[in-house]
Formats: sequence, structure tokens, C-alpha cells
Amino acid sequence: MRKDCGPEIFVTEDRSLLVSGPSRLDPVAESGTPPPQASIVERSIEQARHSVALALSGAALAGSVLIIGGVVAERLWLSQARDAAVQRHTAAQQLAGEAKLADYRLTAAAQMAVATGATRWVEEYDARRPELQRVLQQARSLVDPETAQRFDARSGAAYEELESMRESAFEALTVGSAEVARSIFDGERYRANTRRLSMAIDEFTAAAVQATRAETEALQRRTLYVSAAALIAVLALEFGLWKFLAQRLGRSRTLFLDAENRIQRLASSDLLTGLANRSALRDAMSVALARARREQHGLAVLMVDLDRFKPVNDRHGHMVGDRVLKEVAQRLARTLRAGEPHARYGGDEFVVVVEERDDAAAARVVAERIVASLGEPMLIDTLPISIGASVGVARFPDDADSDDALLRMADSALYRAKAGSSGSVCFYDPSLDEQVAERATLEHAVREGIARGEFLPYYQPIVDLASRAVQAVELLCRWNHPQRGLLAPAHFIALAENSGLIGPMSMSLLRQACVDLAAFPVHWRLSMNIAPQQILDPALVPQLLAVLSESGVAPSRLDVELTETALVGDTVRARAVIQALQAAGITVTLDDFGTGYSSLAYLAEMSFDKIKIDRSFVRTLHERPQSAKIVDAVIGLSRSLGVQTVAEGVETERDARVLLQLGCALAQGYLFSRPLPADQLMKAFA
Ligand code: C2E
Ligand code: CA
Ligand code: CA
Repeated sequence: MRKDCGPEIFVTEDRSLLVSGPSRLDPVAESGTPPPQASIVERSIEQARHSVALALSGAALAGSVLIIGGVVAERLWLSQARDAAVQRHTAAQQLAGEAKLADYRLTAAAQMAVATGATRWVEEYDARRPELQRVLQQARSLVDPETAQRFDARSGAAYEELESMRESAFEALTVGSAEVARSIFDGERYRANTRRLSMAIDEFTAAAVQATRAETEALQRRTLYVSAAALIAVLALEFGLWKFLAQRLGRSRTLFLDAENRIQRLASSDLLTGLANRSALRDAMSVALARARREQHGLAVLMVDLDRFKPVNDRHGHMVGDRVLKEVAQRLARTLRAGEPHARYGGDEFVVVVEERDDAAAARVVAERIVASLGEPMLIDTLPISIGASVGVARFPDDADSDDALLRMADSALYRAKAGSSGSVCFYDPSLDEQVAERATLEHAVREGIARGEFLPYYQPIVDLASRAVQAVELLCRWNHPQRGLLAPAHFIALAENSGLIGPMSMSLLRQACVDLAAFPVHWRLSMNIAPQQILDPALVPQLLAVLSESGVAPSRLDVELTETALVGDTVRARAVIQALQAAGITVTLDDFGTGYSSLAYLAEMSFDKIKIDRSFVRTLHERPQSAKIVDAVIGLSRSLGVQTVAEGVETERDARVLLQLGCALAQGYLFSRPLPADQLMKAFA
């Protein structure tokens, strides 16, 4: 059920609940802009792909250059080879012509020898014969062996026959029968052989030409094959290269993406609890808000703050505190539906985003489930820990329509939830903002009030129960507000504490009290309340001593009242402060004894001069038998520790009597006097 959050935000019994940093008002300041959406890896992969494409183009270009170069070289070589072939065959042809000529000359020499009968022609003939042989030999060496063989086969017989016919003609000539010789040359056989030889030479020439053409064509074909092969080789090479690079790229892409995923997971999660962190929450909220707008449904942002977490952390150490936070994360996960966005927002603050599709009460149900779940006691190892949670809720679209505003408003609602009793759920209400503004105004007023001396010291006597003689007075502050009149501490102490003004206010009161103290009977001591924040202030003891010495008041006249809340924050520091006070001669009282949950522990750990039994026990002394028993036990314990007891809130004679019987030495309450200003106090008691 929803607890009443109460309209007065700074009126609270448990002041510790209001102790929170100023960041509470601006929870989103740190988160900054959400991370860029485009993946860095995707971008670098794109770049790498670009580089690979570039490299491939380069390779293609180089390949093309190679091919073209190869082809050009091949062409050059080819044309040279062709030129050589042509030259060779031209030479062969020429030689064939020369052979023909040589043959003519031989024939002519033979015929002239026969016609003239002169031996000169026979000599000429003999001289020309090796020439023909030489020319034919040369020609043969220039053409392919087959052509040469064919030429030999064709020309050989004709040539040999012609030779032998010439031989016979010359022989006939030498024996003087020129007629016979002539008839040989004129004969059909000689002419037929001459034709055969001449045809063989013609054929040889044609074969040489043909061979040249064939050789050139073969060379051209070869070039084509070589070019095609080169092209195919380059293409295959590039394809292989592309495949290889693509594979490598794919593999490194997976590696990169894995790494990026890991980094993103780490960057977007809280290291301790593993929950989403602020920036991941922002992303999740943007998505959820966009969907809510699109699908036209409601959305609630729940800001969850742990109650009593700080004391756990302080008393049991951060290790236990961390374990508690982890347990909280696990409980949250168990309480929420799968996929319901939730995150650790700060130290002990968590945020949950709840979609309200058909069920407008979904947020309240979830909030109450969270409060119930976190309110269950937990066991950290063997240590029983009991915390709780308060929840502030803001809704889209009713309260706000941006993630920033929703978080701010949920925080504002949480502030009010924390001001109420533990385990409260508060929904944002526009008047909250007004209250925040009002608080700012009030803070300003407190500051001004201190400067203008509006905070006045009132004194309530602490009497010896047996004799009713005043032993001391407790300094209780009143604010003489210019418009609202005299205000009790409930209206401003928490505010002064939260705005860091409690120190200056205390010192201003002590200064005034020291003046009054000079007029009070010398045996009256002064008890003053010190707020938890002041304990943490290293200037506290020196400041107190300075104010006392300014007004010439002995430190032994001062008693300082501390509540447990002041001790839980930093026990080491608290003990040091208590020791410093006592060393200076100031006594220390543990105030409101019994209201905390570990008073006895503090009693054992620190040495107090007095214990003030809380008025809740005195008030119920007659109604609840336990109260009397507790008071009895406390008095017994104090006596054994050598510590005095003061009962506060004594309103009736009956209370006084019982307390006296139980052995309580000192008392304070309306029975003896209400808190009064110095002059009235003096009139009544001095
Ligand atoms: P406290 O230290 O427990 O002070 C006792 C409170 O009980 C006083 O309330 C006092 O008026 C009230 N009281 C005394 N006798 C009786 C009684 O018989 N019956 C009832 N019902 N109440 C009685 P007050 O003056 O309103 O102060 C409230 C609290 O404000 C104080 O509680 C103290 O914690 C705080 N406070 C007051 N002045 C100062 C101050 O100067 N500095 C600090 N830090 N806190 C102060
Ligand atoms: Ca007190
Ligand atoms: Ca008290």
C-alpha cells in the first residue's frame, strides 16, 4: 500500500534520511551524451575494406601493366622473330635464285663448250660447279630440314642426270665428236631434266615462302596463347588475393566485433553489480520512450534508493556493502520481468523502467514488489543485514516526456519518499517542484537568519532527580522567523544540516549561550547538540574551544550531545573526536539512547560521560512493561560502566518517581521546565 509521504519535506524524525549530496537534485549531470551509435569497428572494417579494394585495384593495375608489358614484349620478340624468319627465307629465296643462275651459267658454259669446242668453257664449267653446290648447301641450311629433303629428292636425280649428261657431252667433245655432244644438249632428256631441276628450285622457293608464313602464323598464335594465359593467371591471382583478403577481413571483423562487444558490455555495465550503468540506462530509456510514443502507451521511471545502507557500509566495511549491493541487484532481477530495463544509477540508487501498457497501476505494483523484496533481511555470509528501499516514480507522458525530465522528477519523488517512513513509494507530483523551490528559499532564509541573529538559544534544565536542583541546561535552538514567528528545530534543523549551515548556526548559538552562561550560576553546565555532519568537520573541536576561550568559559562547563547517527558515519573519526573533546575537558553524552539499533555496540566501543535515555522509553514507561525493563537495564549497565544516566521527556511526577527508584540520577522534561530563554530561565531557577 502507498504510504503517506507527507507534505513537509524536511520534517523528519530520522534526520539521516535527508543526508544526501547535492547531486540528488541533478542526477543526470554526469552522464553526458549517449555514446555514438555507429560501431567504431564497423567503420574501421569499412575503412579496411576500402584499403583492400584500393590494394586490389593497385594489384589489378599492376597486373594489367604486366600483361600489357608482356604482350608488348611478346610482340617485339615476335616481330623480331618474324623478321628473322622472313630474312632467312628471303635469303633462301635469293639463294634459290642464285642456284638457278649458277645452274644457267653451268648449262651455258657446258653448251658453249659443246658449241665452240673450246676447252676454256669446260674449265669455266668445272670452275662453276662448286659454286652451285655451295649456293644449294647454303639455301638448304636456311629452310626447315623437310623442305631441304624434299628439294634434294626432287632436284637430286635431275641434277645428277644433267651432270652425267654434261660429262658425256664433254667426253664426246674431247674425242672430237661435237655432234654427239650437241645432240645431248639438244635432246629431250637434257631439257626435261633441266625443267625438273628448275621446277624443284621454284618449289623450294615457294616452300620457303610458305614456311615463313607458317612460322609467322605460329608465332602469332603463340603470342595469343601467352597473352591469354597471362590474363588468366593475373585474374586467378587477383581472385585468390581477393578471397584471401576477404577471409582475413572476415576473421578480423569477427574478432573486432567480439572485442567491441566486450568493451561495450564493460562500458555499459556497472562493474560491481553487473547491472546496466547510467549511460546504458540512458540508451535503454531512449528506446523505451520511442516505443512508448510509437505504440502510445505509458511508461514509468522508478528511482530506488536503499534505506540504512550507509550505516551497513560504515559499520561492516565496504566489502560487506558491496555484497549487499550485489544482493540488491540479484533481488531486483528476480523481482522484475525479463527484459525490464534496470540499472545502478549511483552508490545505492537504482533505476527501473516499467512499461504501462494496459495496466496503469503497473508501476505501483512493481515499486511495492521492489520495496517488499529489498525489505526482506539478507544474510551476508553469517551476518544478518537489514536494509530497505524507498521509491520515487515519475511517469510518461503525464509528468514528463524526456528521459532527463523523468529522471529528475523520479528523483524529486524519491526525495519525498525518503522524507517519509522507510519503504515509502512516492509518485511525482508537480507540487514537489514547488517544494524544492520553497526549500531553496528556506535555505536562503536560514543563511540570512544566522547573519541577522534570528536563531536564539533556549535552555531546558537538567535536574538532579533526587534534589531537583538544576545541574545543567540543554541548549535548544529556536528560530525567530520574521514572518512565521518562533519555530521549533523540527522546522529547520534538517534543512540547516542538509545545506551545510548547521556548523555556523551552532557556533552562533554557542557564542550567545556563553554570554548567558556568565550570568547563570557557576555550577550550571551547558549541554549542546552536535549534528552528525559536524562530527566529520575537522574544525569542530578547535572552533568549540575558540568560542569558549573567547568568552572565558571553561571547557569543563560544556557537554556535547551526540546521537548514534553521528557515530555510524565514520566510527574511527567519531572516536577520535570524542577523545579530543574529552581531552579538552568537554564531556560527551550519547543522546537519544535506545532509538538506534546498535546503541550497545557504541557504548562498548566509545567512552561516554553520560547516556541520555530517549524520551520514547520514558513516555511508555507505564504502558509497556518492556520500556521499564529496558530503562532498568540501561541504568544498570551505565552504572557498571561508570556512566551517568539522564532521562529525557519526563512529564509526570509518576515518571520521576519510577526513574528515581530505578536509579536514574538526572532528568529533563516538561515536569521541571519547558525550554526557556535565558532571562525566563533565570527568573524561574536561579
Ligand atoms: P533532543 O536533543 O532530543 O532535545 C530534546 C527535545 O525534547 C527538545 O525538543 C525538547 O523541547 C523536547 N522535550 C523536552 N522535554 C520534553 C518533554 O517532557 N516532553 C516532550 N514531548 N518533549 C520534550 P526541541 O527543542 O524541539 O528539539 C528537537 C531536537 O532538535 C533536539 O532533540 C535536537 O536533536 C535538535 N536540536 C535542537 N537544538 C539544536 C541545536 O542547536 N543543534 C542541533 N544540532 N540540534 C538541535
Ligand atoms: Ca539533545
Ligand atoms: Ca534526545
